[in-house]
Amino acid sequence: MINALILILRDVTIQLKTEEERKAFVSNVSHELRTPLTTVTSYVEALVDGAKENPEVMNDFLSVIQNETGRMSRMVSDLLELSRMDQGTMEVKTELVNLNSLMNFVLDRFDMILSNDNNELNTKPLKIERQIPEDEYWVDVDHDKIMQVLDNLLNNAMKYSPDGGTITVTLQKNGENVQVAISDQGLGIPKKDQARVFDRFFRVDKSRSRAMGGTGLGLAISKEVIETFGGKIWVESKEGVGSTFKLELAFVDDELLQSGKRWDDD
Ligand code: ADP
Repeated sequence: MINALILILRDVTIQLKTEEERKAFVSNVSHELRTPLTTVTSYVEALVDGAKENPEVMNDFLSVIQNETGRMSRMVSDLLELSRMDQGTMEVKTELVNLNSLMNFVLDRFDMILSNDNNELNTKPLKIERQIPEDEYWVDVDHDKIMQVLDNLLNNAMKYSPDGGTITVTLQKNGENVQVAISDQGLGIPKKDQARVFDRFFRVDKSRSRAMGGTGLGLAISKEVIETFGGKIWVESKEGVGSTFKLELAFVDDELLQSGKRWDDD
């Protein structure tokens, strides 16, 4: 008679971790959506109960409702985008992109936004300083997606900058990569939170982020996008001094550059 015992050992740590993360994510989504929904419900109820009789109060309440519904709808779009990335169904069409041109294009738009804002708000104007070299740097990416990341980082730099602050945007070569750095002179991010700001829904200051219409998903999306193109993104920050968000993407070599389709072809 043969006595045998077959032991099959399977490490389920990763599976459990994924399951835990999934549960935490669903719970976060519900919580994040419940807050604006509750707010909208109570403001609508107050309007129905008579607040609408006072035009000033009505306008205030409607503007709260507008902000909260806007935030919910941004959040749902962000969540859909993340879910497409998770399932690998995000549409990605890469092409050769001249990063210098793309950055100048994005920054021209921000300069325009700032000149409008600076006229409207009676605060000390924000400034964007560009350090973009003449040498052209080409990368193989989806230019819409990279533009979305740059928009997000610049929007954050503006949101978290003090009045009269300068945002410095640098493009430079770093070994085999091109590096983009966006620095602000804002309140900075505590060391312990620096890696976590790229997690879904993580915010250093929840109420401040919500008050500014933030969804807490922008950096999570940016990280997914940059990693999709084989790059990396991180933050260096000192509390009370400011933050620098950096991203790196690999250069396109000359051979590919001769043969590929380019963003500024069209
Ligand atoms: P949000 O919609 O809240 O801005 P993000 O994913 O873009 O979401 O950013 C996550 C959090 O990271 C923010 O809530 C904020 O606490 C922190 N953060 C992002 N950018 C900056 C910055 N430039 N300066 C300070 N804190 C920042």
